[in-house]
Order: sequence, then structure tokens, then C-alpha cells
Amino acid sequence: MARYTGPVCRLCRRQGMKLFLKGERCFTPKCAVERRPMPPGDHGQRRRKVSEYGEHLKEKQKARAIYGVLERQFRRHFQDAQRQAGATGENLLKLLETRLDNVVYRLGFADSRNQARQLVTHGHIQLNGRRTDIASALVRQGDVISVMPRSRETEYFKVVGETLAKKSVPRWLELDPAALSGRVLTPPSREDIETNVNEQLIVEFYSR
Ligand code: SF4
Repeated sequence: MARYTGPVCRLCRRQGMKLFLKGERCFTPKCAVERRPMPPGDHGQRRRKVSEYGEHLKEKQKARAIYGVLERQFRRHFQDAQRQAGATGENLLKLLETRLDNVVYRLGFADSRNQARQLVTHGHIQLNGRRTDIASALVRQGDVISVMPRSRETEYFKVVGETLAKKSVPRWLELDPAALSGRVLTPPSREDIETNVNEQLIVEFYSR
């Protein structure tokens, strides 16, 4: 599955806010938003009036950057959200939140969604006891997400195992640090999703 491979700090600078795409580095003074708090490019410092369309587009791009999803798949998630009962924007965020790569990140197995995605695509993660390498797979209530037995012996997961006990997970998930596994207790509600996105603007973008 294709993914964005360009410089991710540019995406934060374009949004003018931290999107926390790089794990630990985002919490240090090395963060590009702190060092260069202006949009990227030669004309980054120019003041520009942003149109209504521009605002909607920016919000959609923000959500895409946060969850690391390319346009085609993002639109597909949006269409799925439209088909579900309830508010489309909320449905969209819930779909994005239940992606396997996001859940691996939320459980603390990875420092960023990019890293979580790599863990999944490289076959380190199993869903309900079966190896799953599809980052966009959606988890459901009762699903168990765990690290493959052979991967638990790797240096990376030994370090992760030592730090997991200190991490907190969203209330819709349950973490068993000793077993390097987690469970989906309930589908996430909008309040459970801390992502700083105005989903209504995204709905308006696609409703043009
Ligand atoms: Fe964004 Fe993190 Fe890069 Fe800072 S370090 S600009 S928060 S990705």
C-alpha cells in the first residue's frame, strides 16, 4: 500500500502546528515547528489570505497527515463513513482511529503511526492470533492485537516491553504490557479521539 515518503516535518510546518509524526523528536527542541515556525518553501513567510475552500482543504490534509493516509484511501474511508448511520465526520474519525496501524500506535508498540505501520507491514503484528500485514485493516470490539511470538524476542520489542507499563492507552482499549497485547473494549466514541481535527470541515470539503 502506497504511503507518503516525503519529509514529514514539512507537513507540520504547512499546518502551522505540531502533528507529532516523528515520535520522540516531536517533544524535543529539534522539532521543526519550534525551530522554523513558518510554512515551508521560499515564500513561506508571505502573508496569504486563506479562502473557505483553503480552510476545508487544510483540515482534510491535516487529518490525512496525522493518520498517514494517501488521498485515494482517505476518500474511500470517507465514502464508507457516508454509508454508515450517524454523522459522517464522526464516522470518518472512528474509521481512521480503528485502523490497525493506529491501534498499534495507541497501544504504545510504536512511537509514531509511521513506525506502527512499518511494524504491521513487516509482519510483527497479529490480529486475533493471525499474522496481519495490512495496516488499513479495521479492528472491532473484542479484537486482540498482539506482537508475533518470534518478534517478541527482538531487541526492539524487549525495549518496548520495558516501557509499556508506564504508558496509558485510550479507554476504549485495554493493554496487557507483559503479554505485549491489547484488546478493543468498545468502538471509540468521538470524545475518545484526541486528534485535533475539525471533522465538519472535512465533510464540507468533500460536499462541494
Ligand atoms: Fe512535526 Fe514532530 Fe517534525 Fe515537530 S518533529 S515538525 S511535531 S513531525
